[in-house]
Amino acid sequence: MNVLVVYAHPERRSLNGSLKDFTVRHLRDAGHTVQVSDLYAMHWKAALDADDFPHRDPGARLDASLDSRHAFETGRQSQDIAIEQDKLRRADAVILVFPLWWFSMPAILKGWVERVYAYGFGYGVGEHSDTRWGDRYGEGMLAGKRAMLVVTAGGWESHYGPRGINGPIDHILFPIQHGILYYPGYDVLPPFVVYRTGRIDAARYAAICKELGRRLDTLRDTAPIPFRRQNGGAYEIPALTLRPDVAPGQVGFAAHIESPPPSSVVPGEAVDPAVA
Ligand code: FAD
Repeated sequence: MNVLVVYAHPERRSLNGSLKDFTVRHLRDAGHTVQVSDLYAMHWKAALDADDFPHRDPGARLDASLDSRHAFETGRQSQDIAIEQDKLRRADAVILVFPLWWFSMPAILKGWVERVYAYGFGYGVGEHSDTRWGDRYGEGMLAGKRAMLVVTAGGWESHYGPRGINGPIDHILFPIQHGILYYPGYDVLPPFVVYRTGRIDAARYAAICKELGRRLDTLRDTAPIPFRRQNGGAYEIPALTLRPDVAPGQVGFAAHIESPPPSSVVPGEAVDPAVA
């Protein structure tokens, strides 16, 4: 596979830096072709602003969507954006490696998404009409490709459990996994999360790498999170609310994930809260 690793940590000798290096080495050793976007090393410009559209009329009001659309359609995007889009087109899988900062991704990575996902590339794709809301949530430019998060968190696993104070990790990552990755079409694999990063010694680090290696070995085959497809019949048009007979009574993030077939639920075993 062609794999793009997008890495967002300012310190090469960090845990994230080590996990990024491990990921790249492990994938290459397995025969994959790996490219890395090391955002801090690239001095990635995080803010979407008028400088992204060098050919726009400088006297006109900036319209972040329409200026983006025009630049994308006319091939006049800022070069750093076009280069990252090419990397995404070439990659069969993208892996985002980052520390959880304030319950989300570091700003530099969010800025990568905001700028690289241009109108016509990340959104605004396909027919938009009274009966269709475009190709998104399971369809789009990046459909058929796979995506996975490698995230580190200072908090304990229990803090992110079903009743943990921080909220379930699947809820915290939902805007990234559903809103940023599934939206333009990616099949999103379950995340690889390292908790309690303040307590990592050599033995634990080795165990983390072993497990991460197993996840990388199954990058091609791991079942993605079964998010519901926008155009798969579960949603009413144009409201885009779930049909009353789909997940009746269920609200919130979990409602947008298909239930596992009954046979896959082991009696007495806890079910992932995002799937239950
Ligand atoms: P590092 O600090 O580099 O390393 C962590 C540990 O791993 C250290 O003990 C280090 O010695 C060890 N280590 C690193 N590399 C190796 C190696 N190769 N072999 C063995 N051991 C190694 N946490 C939350 O849970 N939720 C939040 O919302 C949140 N928000 C934050 C916001 C900010 C601005 C900041 C700075 C932190 C926040 N944190 C939060 C904590 C943050 O998630 C962790 O600090 C981060 O995930 C740790 O990753 P790191 O790469 O920076 O680790």
